This record gives sequence, C-alpha cells and structure tokens, in this order.
Amino acid sequence: MSAFIAKILETQFINHHVKRFAVEKPPGYTFIPGQATEIAINLPEWKDQFRPFTFTGLNRWDYLEFLIKIYPERKGVTAMLGKLQAGAELILNNPFGAIEYKGPGVFIAGGSGITPFVAIFRDLFQKGDIKNCRLIYSTRTADEIILHDELKKMLNNDYFNLITREQVIGFLSKRIDRNYLIEHVVDFSQHFYVCGPENFVKQISTLLLDLGANANSLVAEW
Ligand SMILES: Cc1cc2nc3c(=O)[nH]c(=O)nc-3n(C[C@H](O)[C@H](O)[C@H](O)COP(=O)(O)OP(=O)(O)OC[C@H]3O[C@@H](n4cnc5c(N)ncnc54)[C@H](O)[C@@H]3O)c2cc1C
Repeated sequence: MSAFIAKILETQFINHHVKRFAVEKPPGYTFIPGQATEIAINLPEWKDQFRPFTFTGLNRWDYLEFLIKIYPERKGVTAMLGKLQAGAELILNNPFGAIEYKGPGVFIAGGSGITPFVAIFRDLFQKGDIKNCRLIYSTRTADEIILHDELKKMLNNDYFNLITREQVIGFLSKRIDRNYLIEHVVDFSQHFYVCGPENFVKQISTLLLDLGANANSLVAEW
C-alpha cells in the first residue's frame, strides 16, 4: 500500500461535531465516489495510527474533502484532528471500496454514515443522473444533520429527515421502523444502500430483508 503525505489546505466546523477538511490531492490520486481511505496525522506520536474516512468531494476537484465527526472525549485520532489547522500534514493510504453505487435506489443513512452518500450524490447530481434516488437520513438532533441545504437541493422531494432525540418544528421525530419503511420505500425490489453505526446498519438491513429486499441489492457498510 502506498502512503502519501498531504497538507491540510482548509478546515472549518460545519456543525458542533463535524469538521470539514480540504486536503492537498497527491498527483494522480483518484477514487470512486463512496470509497474511503486510511488517514494518519503526520506527527511523531500519531503517524502510525490510521483511521478510515470517506472522500466527500469529487475526483475532478483539485483537492480532497473529508467530513469528520470529532470525538474529543476518546482522545484518539479524531480528537487530534479537531485541533489541526491548515498547514498540518496528513498521511493518506490508497482508496479502498466501502459503498459502491450500483444504480438508483433508496439510501438510508444514520449520523455521519451520510459521508459516502454525499460523494455519490454530488457525482450523480453533476452528471444529471440523480433522479430515482431517495435519501432517508436519521440523526439524533437537527443540529447533527450534515449538508442539509445541499442534500435538499440535489434530491428535492426525495430527501427525508428523521431525528430521534428531540422535537423540532419541520422535522419528523421518530426512529426508522417497519411502518416508516413500508410508507417511504413502497418498492422493495430496488437497490438499497445503508450506512451508519453498526447497530443502525444491522437493524435497517434486517428490516429491509424482512420486507422483501433482495440481499444482492443491499449494500450495507460500517
Ligand atoms: C469505511 C469507513 C469510512 C468512514 N468514514 C468516515 C467519515 O467520512 N467521517 C467520519 O466522521 N467517520 C468516518 N468513519 C468512522 C471513523 O473511522 C471513526 O470515527 C474514527 O476511526 C474514530 O477514531 P478515533 O481515533 O477518534 O476514535 P477510536 O479509535 O474509535 O477510539 C479511541 C479510543 O476511544 C475509546 N472509544 C471507542 N469507541 C468509544 C465509544 N463509543 N464510547 C466511548 N469511548 C470509545 C476507546 O478506548 C478507543 O481506543 C468511517 C469508518 C469506516 C469503517
């Protein structure tokens, strides 16, 4: 596996927990929307600690973008990433497959599990191919929703939010359950893409298969 050293070009918090990184793109570095790479921080005490993160930008951009949920309390790599600014260096490995787009269908994301879908939707949108894709996006709070306006712009009426830990006007406050899926999916013979915390992915995948989704048409990760 090759490793590339790349400078952070820009950072900003896009909500309380999620930090956006624009990162130098190593020459010739390409990825498929939905793919991730292992990243370490190029500092003596951190350079052996690699963690996986998903590309959220497009190949044709001249920089890489990552949207990273920072866990300050874990004192791990993301806590350190939370402190880094432009000019600091990261070590990137080669891209590896995580979620791969196989055709239009229903995308179901929990929390920061939205990141591979961001790359896929941006790619489809700029090609004019996003129709017949539907997103069901669940977060604990409204504040945790990543790129709400951009997702709404790309998906229009095929974008559905649920929040599970608070009541906010304009948002449905509930968990994704069997009835919700029956109502919002209707056709279980299409492709499904599920990404989020492990329990979320297990529960949603089980519900989908139980409702008639085909195991070969289900892409589930994380
Ligand atoms: C393919 C893939 C793609 C991913 N893409 C993204 C992405 O685009 N954006 C993103 O934000 N995340 C993404 N993730 C998740 C991301 O990799 C993790 O959030 C990250 O590895 C956490 O690293 P860390 O060093 O901060 O914490 P960890 O290594 O998870 O934890 C450090 C220490 O904290 C403690 N700890 C661990 N879990 C908990 C817990 N739940 N509660 C309390 N203490 C705990 C343990 O002692 C652990 O050793 C992706 C994961 C995968 C598998």
